[in-house]
Amino acid sequence: MTVLPLPAGPVRQAGGCIQPVLLRGRVDHIDGATGELLHRYSTVHEPGGVLPVACKTRRASRCPPCAEVYSADTYQLIRAGLSGGKGVPDSVATHPCVFTTLTAPSFGPVHLSREKDGHLQRCRPRRRAQICPHGRRMSCGERHARDDDRLGEPLCPDCYDYTGSVLFNACAPELWRRFTITLRRTLARRAGMTNKALTAQLRVSFAKVAEYQRRGVVHFHAIIRLDGPTGPGSAPPAWATIDLLTAAIAQAADSVHLDTPSAPGLPAHTLRWGREHDTRPITTTGELTDTRVAAYVAKYVTKAAECTGTLDRRITATDRLDDLPVSEHARRLIAACLHIGKLPALDGLRLIAWAHMLGFRGHFSTKSRHYSTTFGALRAERAQHQRDHAPTGSLWPEPEDDTTLVLAHWRFAGQGHPPITPLSGDVIRSGAPPPEPPEGGQP
Ligand SMILES: [Zn+2]
Ligand SMILES: [Zn+2]
Ligand SMILES: [Zn+2]
Repeated sequence: MTVLPLPAGPVRQAGGCIQPVLLRGRVDHIDGATGELLHRYSTVHEPGGVLPVACKTRRASRCPPCAEVYSADTYQLIRAGLSGGKGVPDSVATHPCVFTTLTAPSFGPVHLSREKDGHLQRCRPRRRAQICPHGRRMSCGERHARDDDRLGEPLCPDCYDYTGSVLFNACAPELWRRFTITLRRTLARRAGMTNKALTAQLRVSFAKVAEYQRRGVVHFHAIIRLDGPTGPGSAPPAWATIDLLTAAIAQAADSVHLDTPSAPGLPAHTLRWGREHDTRPITTTGELTDTRVAAYVAKYVTKAAECTGTLDRRITATDRLDDLPVSEHARRLIAACLHIGKLPALDGLRLIAWAHMLGFRGHFSTKSRHYSTTFGALRAERAQHQRDHAPTGSLWPEPEDDTTLVLAHWRFAGQGHPPITPLSGDVIRSGAPPPEPPEGGQP
């Protein structure tokens, strides 16, 4: 019997979820002192004998209603870290805080959509453009609209560094980790103190989100905030200013690098952030406000790599690369993952398993422990709110006291909407008893 951890009282509806997880099972309330069964909930009386529970995906391409909930939670979580709320004191708004974007380097020129004063600009006009070894002119005089399919595609696919691009995606989480360590060290050096002395006075909190650029490479948008030693509840030292933080971010982003292992036919690559990084202060008034940043992050968090024309699922052994419904550029990126993913030296990057993500296997949004609240806390708060406001909609009574044992037995029964079953009245009239929940494994 599989026991799935569920919150004490999931609500009956799976929201507007279009691909709910179907659970079969029961929940028993047992008197801890006497062992008496006080209450039993069983999915046997639910339509189709199963309880649909929201899939809770963050991906809008898979389930828009659940992605909307995820996005709303992200908004709350990000905003609490900028202006307080959800257990974070309002004084956090006075802490030095910036929004920074760390990009990937260039892997070759790609088609761009550029706008200036509301007018589309030429893509890459070069009067004396070089001709590449494949005979292609490294210039493009077109004005690409924002929905142009060629955006992000290389001017010469044969010159483009596909290997470098997927290696960057695969190593971006590690590059970010090294950046956060280097940032703390840089702050200590600039403040003229040891790393240990810095930790006693200052904590660096962050929340970041990954976004795919059209060329199929990830970049990170991050909120970086300076707190006192215990997190958002304590004030940072007076010397910890926005200017110091901004300068330290630029220095750390420029200096951090990572060398990939070499393999037969593949030289070692040194990976770095792109030269362009943009760091701006977040303030309660002005251009970049808490609500604006929170809305921006919440928007990106529901997207995966689909904007680059790749697949929304893993590639399996039975897939033929040529038959995949993807763009040519995505096909070459996937091919690079499948090709170098076979090299034993690169085993740890798991490029074959993550080929559909063009090599990136990291989390789309991450935050440091002291940034603000958690998704778990936000979900628990919402579930409690729903129980409080719709007592008849809950599946079972709240336990009377803390000596009541709640034993849940759940089994995964599929995904999608439950099958339509005859109304219970029809079943009774036909004389057939409702089916018993099967015990043990699936029939
Ligand atoms: Zn869903
Ligand atoms: Zn172009
Ligand atoms: Zn070329």
